[in-house]
Amino acid sequence: MTNFTNKSVLVLGGSRGIGAAIVRRFAADGARVAFTYSGSPEAARLLAAETGSTAFQTDSADRDAVIARVRDSGALDVLVVNSGIALFGDALEQDPDAVDRLFRINVQAPYHASVEAARQMPAGGRIIVIGSVNGDRMPLPGMASYALSKSALQGLARGLARDFGPRGITINVVQPGPIDTDANPADGPMRDLMHSFMALKRHGRPEEVAGMVAWLAGPEAGFVTGAMHTIDGAFGA
Ligand code: NDP
Repeated sequence: MTNFTNKSVLVLGGSRGIGAAIVRRFAADGARVAFTYSGSPEAARLLAAETGSTAFQTDSADRDAVIARVRDSGALDVLVVNSGIALFGDALEQDPDAVDRLFRINVQAPYHASVEAARQMPAGGRIIVIGSVNGDRMPLPGMASYALSKSALQGLARGLARDFGPRGITINVVQPGPIDTDANPADGPMRDLMHSFMALKRHGRPEEVAGMVAWLAGPEAGFVTGAMHTIDGAFGA
């Protein structure tokens, strides 16, 4: 485990699931952690009390609110952009406003948060965005907007790695496969279909994703940037 004592960490979308596991991991490793949430104030309150972290209600669909939250967080050592949503169903039937909201949360927020964080981030700073193996492989219909958004993060990391490298800041994407959260419960109706694509016939645990994030934020990953890091039980292999 890396010691993150005196490190300032902000997790966008930290109240539940993978984000909450990331908050817990950095808090356990000694960091000063803040996180945002939108629709789950009670989960956020409980997590903040449990971990000694600070919760802020900030909708990732609101670009200016995201930028202000990052700016007001001061000089971050680590920014993790985890907030993300999925839309399911026939692309021809989907509400275009809902699709655009997904793009605001899944693509625009990661971009603007990363750029804003880099303004104050010291050399050695780390930006980690939670993408998805669906950025590489989308074996099911009805999730094109989600797949598009997660593929877009690959370009974000490749491009911003070039911009931020001279400042000593790295940016990477973590690409989970099926992970047991409210959004994708291990006992959900898609379980057997998803496991059929995988070498490891189980959902991953949020803590396993948090471990990869912690490694990317730590000193051993100083030469890793502009890269995608897949943790998916070979869903995409
Ligand atoms: P959950 O739905 O379980 O949790 C999502 C988290 O993001 C919550 O803390 C939620 O907070 C926050 N969030 C969602 N929308 C917003 C918003 N508009 N503003 C601020 N916070 C928001 O999802 P997961 O933990 O499963 O997923 C986390 C990330 O991992 C996402 O980016 C997802 O795409 C990605 N991922 C997940 C996989 C899985 O199988 N679980 C697989 C691959 C990628 P609140 O409830 O307070 O709004």
